[in-house]
Amino acid sequence: MLVVAEKEIAGLMTPEAAFEAIEAIFASMARRKAYNFPVVREAIGHEDALYGFKGGFDASALVLGLKAGGYWPNNQKHNLINHQSTVFLFDPDTGRVTAAVGGNLLTALRTAAASAVSIKYLAPKGAKVLGMIGAGHQSAFQMRAAANVHPFEKVIGWNPHPEMLSRLADTAAELGLPFEAVELDRLGTEADVIISITSSFSPLLMDQHVKGPTHIAAMGTDTKGKQELDPALVARARIFTDEVAQSVSIGECQHAIASGLIREDQIGELGAVVAGDHPGRVDAEVTLFDGTGVGLQDLAVAQKVLEIAKEKGLAQEVEI
Ligand code: NAD
Repeated sequence: MLVVAEKEIAGLMTPEAAFEAIEAIFASMARRKAYNFPVVREAIGHEDALYGFKGGFDASALVLGLKAGGYWPNNQKHNLINHQSTVFLFDPDTGRVTAAVGGNLLTALRTAAASAVSIKYLAPKGAKVLGMIGAGHQSAFQMRAAANVHPFEKVIGWNPHPEMLSRLADTAAELGLPFEAVELDRLGTEADVIISITSSFSPLLMDQHVKGPTHIAAMGTDTKGKQELDPALVARARIFTDEVAQSVSIGECQHAIASGLIREDQIGELGAVVAGDHPGRVDAEVTLFDGTGVGLQDLAVAQKVLEIAKEKGLAQEVEI
């Protein structure tokens, strides 16, 4: 099998390549040419960790595999980021494992690419202000990917832990954009596009905060019980997701579904918009992308990085 080490990924994968891979896999999912397997995600009762597997099969590109790993909230004491994962690819003809690819940076790039795809297709016309909720590891990747896909003029941000806001200020400065820390009511009023990427278990952005045409990429909720948005806000929005089965069980929509505010058949697929099978925003005031993170995203970027690593001679051969 081939191994692409985590330390090599930064030199191999670009946000642009991640964007292309994610846009394409979302369209393949919507056309039923690729499908995800049910997610396993368990609180293991040790170090507050959430551990699991996300897998899938892309029948057109013949990519089969899974990502194993999860979220260890206390990793700072080990000098490691909280998200830890590895992607394994298998030969769909024989079942033999073909590659192990470091999944940490790839996860950040593919998650940011997913919200960027949603912004490309669903942002209100002439959107100028990007609102960021969350200032953890993922937030910088999110902001960079959003700025790559849309010409924002300003970033405003809020975080439950204000001492972390310097990450948003530094990232905006790197992008040449002014940044202002604001309260959530101002964020909801002024932002045309909002990205939420926290590990919250209760609603942060409330329905009354959000005014005017707005696109919300809700990216933090990827587990049962997590929540960033007021279910009434979810119910007011035209909803899209990466995968409906995940949206209603582990995504932001789990709460609006459980309280009977929305039905599963009201949730559209972002891939259908990408594929031209759904008109997208049209006359909606608020659009929501419930980005739950699917295994096929991981496989798509891992396959891409593997191809580049092979070309550059940076994939190590290991006998197993
Ligand atoms: P991080 O640990 O670096 O940052 C955590 C963020 O959440 C910070 O903004 C922090 O202030 C906030 N936070 C922490 N505890 C909180 C609480 N109890 N209530 C409200 N906010 C709280 O994490 P990260 O790597 O930036 O990831 C952020 C979230 O994104 C996590 O929930 C992670 O599981 C999720 N995530 C989702 C996907 C996806 O595909 N949808 C992919 C990767 C990460």
